[in-house]
Order: sequence, then structure tokens, then C-alpha cells
Amino acid sequence: MTETVTKPSAQTGEIFIDREYIEGLLEEARHTSDDTINRYLDKAERFEGLTHREIASLLVTNNPDHLKRIFSVAWKIKQRIYGNRIVLFAPLYVSDYCVNRCSYCCYNCSHQFNRSKLTMDEVREEIRILEEMGHKRIALEAGENDRECPIDYILECMSTIYGMKFKNGEIRRINVNIAATTVENYRKLKDIGIGTYILFQETYHQPTYDRVHLGGPKKNYAYHLTAFDRAHEGGIDDVGGGVLFGLADPYFEVLGLMIHNEHLEERFNVGFHTISVPRLCPAEGMSMRDFPYLVDDAVFEKIVAVIRLAVPFTGMILSTRESHAMRKKLLRLGISQISAGSSTGVGGYAKQERRRGTPPQFEINDDRSAMEIITELMDDGYIPSFCTACYRNGRTGDRFMSLAKSGQIKNVCLPNALMTLCEYSMDYGDGYFKQKAAETISREIPGIANEKIRVRTAENVEKIRMGGRDFFV
Ligand code: SAM
Repeated sequence: MTETVTKPSAQTGEIFIDREYIEGLLEEARHTSDDTINRYLDKAERFEGLTHREIASLLVTNNPDHLKRIFSVAWKIKQRIYGNRIVLFAPLYVSDYCVNRCSYCCYNCSHQFNRSKLTMDEVREEIRILEEMGHKRIALEAGENDRECPIDYILECMSTIYGMKFKNGEIRRINVNIAATTVENYRKLKDIGIGTYILFQETYHQPTYDRVHLGGPKKNYAYHLTAFDRAHEGGIDDVGGGVLFGLADPYFEVLGLMIHNEHLEERFNVGFHTISVPRLCPAEGMSMRDFPYLVDDAVFEKIVAVIRLAVPFTGMILSTRESHAMRKKLLRLGISQISAGSSTGVGGYAKQERRRGTPPQFEINDDRSAMEIITELMDDGYIPSFCTACYRNGRTGDRFMSLAKSGQIKNVCLPNALMTLCEYSMDYGDGYFKQKAAETISREIPGIANEKIRVRTAENVEKIRMGGRDFFV
């Protein structure tokens, strides 16, 4: 293929997403020959990642043979890099006050409903319930409102949560998904012990961004786009990107994500720790009919698989926005982290416990309990993991990525997954679960390549069965 679209020179300033460049790539990609696509797939199969042009070609192909191969390479990469491990987390919504007017979001400030934020007692109540489900990792979520939900409130929630200890453990890692903010605020989040700072660009397509963000600070595309630059400047080196699929052309969005990732790699030596793939869901105050780019299941599966091929070492997160069946499929195409037992309303876990209806931020499509989801993962041959070790051992940012790229991460993630699964089964499992977990653990321990770590893991598993807790490497 003749190259007519040239990559714009790296910019460290405001806008590093070049719309014409991405549109040109997608146009050119439509003329890629079958042989060329097969060469790109050979390259992906060698875990070498993909260039923008290669990604564009895989995104636009609809040839069933290519699609079949994209899916099988995605599964191969997933198996080689992540093994059977699936990391679990739960969202915690602390405040739905919001000053923005995002046309897709129920928190839009022009919607009338009784807004609330959790008191610290309510935060403790939610965490108690999450802990009873066995969660060790949460994603703290809030709307944007500096008066009702300033950074000090978020910090107070975090220190309340980190300060809580239970018989069976505690929340060990808090990822945070709050609006784009200042370097100073990112520094405060770093100092209090943020895990990953998560922020979805929503859309990289600026005309769409301008159209769906009707008012409020979030309307500023450049400020939102450069949030991770400020997060890095504030010391946060684990950042997680994403777009809200359904707002603009999904292929444009994938290329936007890739370019954003490279921008961070060029500036800070490390790109996204994770990529989330939320798809637009029905929510109060919006109609799905107003969004012409809704992504169907077939395109969504292709997108997830192509991202897996393009950035093999970046974790991929899927939430309960997706149905049970879809989540099952996407786990085979590259997803490495899922939420389980989620509630997307403020105080939602306590309300669920009291069986009261809650106004969720959006409707969820997988409402099975955490235990049901985790049991099914094991029945399907996965290893549910509650690991939070990298962050606690300071393996963040480029330290994590270089370990991942060298393949050494396997000697760390697999033992931690098995030890945390053992903890979970002892503390929350019934007879069936305990037996399945024991089988999984004895099947997987021999696969730990480093002998010293293999022996230590087996010893720690025994200690956990005798009542010990919180071992990690
Ligand atoms: N307020 C924060 C911000 O400004 O980025 C983020 C927190 S918000 C609770 C988390 C995410 O929910 C948003 O970034 C958006 O992508 C997603 N969201 C909003 N409305 C949605 C909908 N109708 N369907 C699916 N996801 C939605």
C-alpha cells in the first residue's frame, strides 16, 4: 500500500490528536490487500504491537477470514501475557452532584433528581458490604462539582476507606475516576495512595466532543485531553484511558486511544496502564435514539480484539454495562479486568441490601452477584484474582511496564492471583467454591516458572489455609 498519510510530529502541547490524520488513515485502510492484512496479523502474533496504519486496516476489515484470525490472535496474546487470570473490582459511587451538561449522562446538571453524596458513615457502610463480597480493589467514582464534592472530600473518602480493617481483610487499592483536575490535586491523590487514575476521554473526535458536552468545565476538550499529562506531572504514573463507545465513529476512537497512549509514552515513558471500553447504555434523561454511532456487538468484539493486538501489555477493563453473554465472549478477546456485583448509584450497595430502588448513573446489564460471577469464572477455567500487589510494592508506571514487556510479570501475577484466590475461597467460599479453588490452585502452581517463587507460593497457600492473610510477591 502506498503511504499517503503522514504521522504528525509529536506535540507535547495542547492538542495531539489530529483529526485529519486519523480520518486519512481510516480512508487509506479500506484499500489494504488481504496479503498485507495477513502480514500485520503475523506481526501482532509475535507480540510486537501495531502501527496506526496497521491498526486502521484491522479495524476496517470485515473479511470473515481476517476477523477469525484477529480473534484467534487476540486469544493467543491474552493467554500468553495474562494467562487465565481475571482481576476483579467494584465501582463505588460517592457523589452524583455535577456541574456538567453531558448529553449522554444521567448526572447532567439540568436533570432534576435528588442528588446526594455519601457521609463518611455511609462510605463505611458501602465498604463493609463490598468487603463482604470479597472485594479488595475499588474504583471510586464521582460527578464533577467543586462545591459539593471538592478534592478534600474525595481524599477524606479515600483515607476513610484505607483506614478500615475487617476480619477478612480490607480494601487494598483505590482507583479513582473523577473529573480532569489540576496538577496540585493530582499530587494530593498520589500522596494519599491512589491506585490508577482513570478518566475516559468520552470521544477523541472534537466536533462530537463539543456537541455532546453542552456546558460545564468538561466542555473544554483540551483540558480534558491533557488531564493525564497533569496527572503525571503530579506524580501519578498509573493512568487508565477509555472512550465511551457510541458517541462517534468507533474506529476513530480506537486510533485516538492509541495516539493518546503514544503521546504519554513519548512524554513520560509509560502509556496507559489500562484501557476501559465502556459502551453507551440507556440512562435517565437521555435517549439512545439521539446517538447515531451506537456500536453493535460484532463491531465491539472486533474493537476489543484489535486493541488487544495493538497494545498487548495494557490491561483492558470491562464493566457490568455489558451483558453476561457479552462479557463471557470478550474475556476471550482480551479483557483482563472486570467488575462484579456492581451498583452504579450513590449508596447503591446499602440500598440494594435494603432492597430499595436507586437511580443508577446508567443501567447495568450484568446484575449477577459477585459470587456468581467469580464462580463462573472458575468453572470456565479462569483464575479470579484479587491481587493488588504491584501497586503496594511500588511496581507502577514504567517499572510495571518493563516487567510486563520482559515477560517476568508472570512470576509475580500468577502467584499473587493464586494466593488471593485462596484467601477469597477460605473467607467467602462455600464447599463447592473451596473445592474448585483448591483444584485451580493445584493445577496452576506448577506453571510458576521461577522455582523459588513456586515453592514460596505453595507454602503461602498452606499458611492462608491455616489462617494467614495478605501474602504477595
Ligand atoms: N465525572 C467524571 C468525569 O468527568 O470524567 C467521571 C465519572 S463518571 C461517574 C464515569 C463515566 O461514566 C463517564 O466518564 C462516562 O464515560 C460514563 N457514562 C456516563 N453516562 C453513561 C451512559 N449513559 N452509559 C454508559 N456510560 C456512561
